[in-house]
Amino acid sequence: MAALPVLTKKDLRSYVPDGFIAEKYKCKEGFASGEIEMESTSGTAEERVSVVWNQKWWDRSELAAAKLNAVLNNIFSRPHREAVLATPACSGNLCHVGESPMRERTIGNLLFLNQTPDPTAWDNKNIRRMVEELESFQPDIIEADPAYLSILSKACLSAGYTLCQPKCIVLTYEFPSQIHYRQIHRAFPGIPVVSSYGSTETGHVFTQCEAGSFHQNTATCYVDIQPLKTKFGNPDLGRILVSTLDNPWFVLLRYDVGDIALLNTGKECSCGRADGLIVPGVEGRTRDITFDTKGRIVTLKQLDDALEPATALLNYHLAQADAQHYSMSYEADPATQLNSADILPDILHRLYGSDAIIEIARDSALVPEQSGKFRLAHTAWPLQAEEFF
Ligand SMILES: [Zn+2]
Repeated sequence: MAALPVLTKKDLRSYVPDGFIAEKYKCKEGFASGEIEMESTSGTAEERVSVVWNQKWWDRSELAAAKLNAVLNNIFSRPHREAVLATPACSGNLCHVGESPMRERTIGNLLFLNQTPDPTAWDNKNIRRMVEELESFQPDIIEADPAYLSILSKACLSAGYTLCQPKCIVLTYEFPSQIHYRQIHRAFPGIPVVSSYGSTETGHVFTQCEAGSFHQNTATCYVDIQPLKTKFGNPDLGRILVSTLDNPWFVLLRYDVGDIALLNTGKECSCGRADGLIVPGVEGRTRDITFDTKGRIVTLKQLDDALEPATALLNYHLAQADAQHYSMSYEADPATQLNSADILPDILHRLYGSDAIIEIARDSALVPEQSGKFRLAHTAWPLQAEEFF
């Protein structure tokens, strides 16, 4: 596998659909029979790609991924209902922007809750509607973009609304930060929260088990972690390369999904599952890495973990202007006594270097990118993944 080149989004743009369809399969016939369709991934314009979507394979991938967590496996073993809370434009090809009644947003066992591209624009009417719809739908699972569920959780906690408690919360779509977990755990006390990692291109790749590790979904994918070059930091960090299995309509070999994981060399998981790769965590997107003043990579998870003591944080954005200059904007909960501004400089200097020049400012209006995803960190200059791995 290591001898093969890495497949990139650029390759998909050039060769989808014919370049990735198995030899005996005819693309025209697949489209005509309805077995496959074209779909676009979410994300920013430069990230977006078209893929060949095979619903049956996706369902197999989802089902196999659910087996990697005891709570999910139990729910998936019988008919169940799922409420989805994410950007209204990235739930498959569906788009629910604007005002549409609940029955139009209910498709099979799924309820698509959100109708607003920017969740920071939700007003009380929106929040109440979602609370009431959850109450009447009684989902077994809430599948959510962590940023969106955290905003809903916070709004309900502030307004004193009680949220319907599902059997399980599944976080996907973007990196789950401590700022999200804090609000979600407060609004859903005792409910298991599972992180699920995958993409439109590759299906379900890793599921977090009940012990907290991420297990590879060996039924529908093979994963390589290509290590970081040592001059950029810990070589146990690497980019996630996925090869799809058992999907003749979209055969990917060593596809760079655009995310980083931490390898768990030689360790077993206490849950007992031993099949495939087991990693302690997904570290965030490659495009969201920053660098310390020595030029070593700081992943989004490393930044996020470092910020954990700043428990008043509701949102943040770290921008790196050059090798030494950083600026952080943050929103903090006015209700808590802890003044995050006091501890942020120390945290950031420990992470980026004592010679880092850091500006910190409170900002009450951190909004998502046009794709509907919130970006927590970025460098002012463009990054080429090949350079680092
Ligand atoms: Zn495990």
